[in-house]
Amino acid sequence: MISVQKEGLEKYSMQEMMIPSEKVAHVQGGNPMEHALLVLVKSGYSAVPVLDAEYKLKGIISKTNIIENMLGVEQFELDCLSEMTVEEVMNTDIPYLKPEATFSDGLHSVIDHPFVCVIDEKGYFEGILTRRAILKRINQHIHTNHES
Ligand code: AMP
Repeated sequence: MISVQKEGLEKYSMQEMMIPSEKVAHVQGGNPMEHALLVLVKSGYSAVPVLDAEYKLKGIISKTNIIENMLGVEQFELDCLSEMTVEEVMNTDIPYLKPEATFSDGLHSVIDHPFVCVIDEKGYFEGILTRRAILKRINQHIHTNHES
């Protein structure tokens, strides 16, 4: 049986596991919804962070947010795409991590979310921690321990 030492996993820092801000696709709150939809469809991501002009985290916008807001009484209202802005439809009630968060904090946060934003104490966006990155580390750790 493979035993996983929690202490061994705690050595992985947020800095080395997260995707840094410069590599993260994002939109701004004032962008029209159609811009966000374009970014989401072209990137293939289900959701991306929403930042302000200063690079502070404001929320997350997903394809589901956009589709739900386009749904009228009987049909999809395409005009919404240019009339509504990202900040009108984004999720603002989102979890986040500090750069000094531990591996356990990260693991806990991605149980319910495919990715979680990392922000500093002033709210500046530093990057994202994905569930994939955490699983990759656990997988690597299990195999390294198993082989030694
Ligand atoms: P993954 O773990 O790579 O499947 O990513 C899970 C989710 O994290 C994606 O659907 C996106 O919502 C988000 N994500 C991952 N990488 C990026 C990125 N480089 N830019 C923006 N969002 C990302």
